[in-house]
Amino acid sequence: METQLQKGKIGINTQNILPIIKRWLYSEKEIFIRELISNAFDAIEKLKRIMLNEEIYQSDQVDFFIEVKFDKEKGTLHFIDNGIGMTKEEVEKYIAQIAFSGAQEFAQKYLKDQSSVDIIGHFGLGFYSSFMVADKVEIHTRSYQLEAEPVYWVSDGSDEYFIGKGERINRGTEIILHLNDEAKNEFLDKITLQNLIRKYCDFLSIPIKLDGLQVNYQKPLWLKKPNEVSKEEYLSFYKYLYPLDSDPLFYIHLNTDYPFRLQGILYFPKLKHEMDLNQNYVKVFCKQIFVTDEAQEIIPKFLTALKGVLDLPELPLNVSRSYIQQDPEVKKIATHIVKKVADKLVEECKNNREYYEKIWKDIAPFVKYGMMEDSKFYENAKEALLFETIVEENLDNRKFKTIQEYLDHNKTKTDNKIYYATDLKTQGPAVRLLLKQGIEIIYLDKLIDAHFSSFLEMQEHNVHFVRVDAEISDHAIEKESKIIDSDSKTLKDRVEDIFRKALNNTKIIVRAEQLKTDEIPAMILLPETYRRVSELAVLYGEKDKFTIPEHHTLLLNLKNPLIQKLGKPDIILTEGQEIKPEKLELAKQIYHLTRISQALVSPEEMQNYAKEIFLFIEKRV
Ligand code: ADP
Repeated sequence: METQLQKGKIGINTQNILPIIKRWLYSEKEIFIRELISNAFDAIEKLKRIMLNEEIYQSDQVDFFIEVKFDKEKGTLHFIDNGIGMTKEEVEKYIAQIAFSGAQEFAQKYLKDQSSVDIIGHFGLGFYSSFMVADKVEIHTRSYQLEAEPVYWVSDGSDEYFIGKGERINRGTEIILHLNDEAKNEFLDKITLQNLIRKYCDFLSIPIKLDGLQVNYQKPLWLKKPNEVSKEEYLSFYKYLYPLDSDPLFYIHLNTDYPFRLQGILYFPKLKHEMDLNQNYVKVFCKQIFVTDEAQEIIPKFLTALKGVLDLPELPLNVSRSYIQQDPEVKKIATHIVKKVADKLVEECKNNREYYEKIWKDIAPFVKYGMMEDSKFYENAKEALLFETIVEENLDNRKFKTIQEYLDHNKTKTDNKIYYATDLKTQGPAVRLLLKQGIEIIYLDKLIDAHFSSFLEMQEHNVHFVRVDAEISDHAIEKESKIIDSDSKTLKDRVEDIFRKALNNTKIIVRAEQLKTDEIPAMILLPETYRRVSELAVLYGEKDKFTIPEHHTLLLNLKNPLIQKLGKPDIILTEGQEIKPEKLELAKQIYHLTRISQALVSPEEMQNYAKEIFLFIEKRV
C-alpha cells in the first residue's frame, strides 16, 4: 500500500517541536485518550446533525459507537468511530495543517515566553497529543459522503506525512497509535484503559466499547431539561457519582444559555462534620467529557462541600489551571453559581419550610461560613437564615425562626435586642428568667456562631445580640410601683450591703432587684464584651483557662425567700457589729454556689469553694 502513497510536508518552520511539547505534557500523557475519544464523539455528533437534514450513506451502521481496541503484540492502540469520517482533502486540511499549525503556535508561544505554557487543547492540538505516546500514527477514514473514497494517512510526528487511498469499508474513522516502549507498558492493559475511559468519558452519551463491551455509564443527566427529570433520577444519579454517600439534602439543576452556557447538577450532601467544608467534589465537564475535579476557581471556597457535575461547553476542553484562573468568564460562572445556590436556599425556606427546618442544622455551618466569605451571598440568601429558638420553659421545645420572625415576636419586650444563649447549663437561670417574661432565646451553640453573630451585627443596623447573662432585661424586673413589700427599699439596701461586705471586692458589682420570679436567689451577669473572649477561648480549646472576668455583677433577687430572710434586720448585734458574721459567711457561700451553678469557676476555684461549703455545713451539723 505504501507505494501508492503521496508524501506531504507540513508548512511549518519550527523543525521538530515534538520534544518540547512532549516534555511539557509529560505528566498528563493520558489525556490523549480523552482527546481522541472526544474527536470521535464530535465526528458522530456532526453526522447526527447532518442526518437530520440529509439522506445520507449510512452503510450498515445506524447505531453509533466508539470502540477502543488494543493489540499487545503489535503494541497498538485503536480508536474507532462510525461518525462523519474524512475525505482526503479534509484529512489534509484538518489533520495535517490545522492540527500541526496548532502545534506550531504552541511552540512559538513556548519559545517566546517560558512561563505561559498553556495546555495543548487550547491550541487545537487534540489529535497531535497522540504523538506524546506514539512513534507512529495511522488514520483510516471514510467520509459519510456518497462515493467518498477511503483515505489512509500516516505520520511519525515529524513534519512529513504520507497520504493515499485507504481500505476502510465502513463510514467513520480508525486512529491507530503505534505506542512507544514506555507507553506500551503504561497503557496496553484492559483495566488501565477502562479506568481512563471511565475517568474522562463515563458520561459521554455514545457507547464506548473496550474489547467489545460497553464501559461508560453514558447518561449525562444534567443535559436533560429540569422539568423532565424525576426526583428518583436525581437521587440515583447522585448514588452513581458517590456510592458511599447517604442521600443529599437538596439539589440544584443549572441550565443557562446566556451570558454563558452552563449545565449541571449541584447537590448539597449531608455533611459528616463541619470540616467537610474544605473538600472539593464537583466534577467539571466540557461537553460531557471530564476535565477536572479541582475546580477551585469555578466553585467558590465556601461551596466546596457541594457535589455533582458542571458542564461548561465553552471552556476549552483541556484548559490548564493557569488558563482557568485567568479566564474572566470563570469569575462570572462562579458568581452565577453562588447566586443560584442562594436562590435555592431562599426558595426552599419559603416554599418548603418544614423540610428546610429539618435540614437546617446540616446546612447552617456552610451557609454561615459562606455569608461571612461573600457578602453577595449573604445579601441573596439572608432570608434563608434560621435560628434555633428556645420558646418556652421546656427547653427542648425549639422553633426555627428568622431574625425578622424573632424580632416581630419579641421586640417590644427586648427593645429590639436579640437574646441568645450559648450554654444551657451555665446560662440556665438567665434563660429561665427571660422565658418567664415571654422573651424567646436564640440558641447559638456552634463555634462559628461567635463570629457569625458579630458579622450580622455589622451587616444589619437593627441586629444586636445580647447574651442572656450579659445584662438583665428591664422586663425581667418588677417596676417600682409593683413593689409589694413597703420596706423593700431598705431590704434592697440591706441585701446589697451584706453582700458587698461579705465579698469585700469593689470589682464585683452587687445589685439587688425584684425579679419577676422567686425561684432564683442570685445570678452572675457577665459583660457582653466578655462573651466574645470566652467563646473564642472555647474555639481555641482553652475553655478551662477562662472562668470569669474580675468585673462582673452579682444580681440578687429580692423576691426569693432566702434573700428576703437574709435581708431581714438583725435585732441583736454585738457591739461594733453592723451585720451578724454568720450572715456574711452565708452570703459568701451564696455567691460561691451561684458561680458553681453557672459553671463559672476554674478547677482550682471549684476545689476551694467546695472545701469552704463543706466546712460551712460541718459547723452546723
Ligand atoms: P480539534 O478537535 O480541537 O478541532 P484536533 O487536532 O483534535 O483538534 O482535530 C482536528 C480536526 O480533525 C477536527 O476538528 C476534525 O475535523 C478532524 N478529526 C479529528 N478526529 C476525527 C475523527 N475521528 N473523525 C472525523 N474527523 C476527525
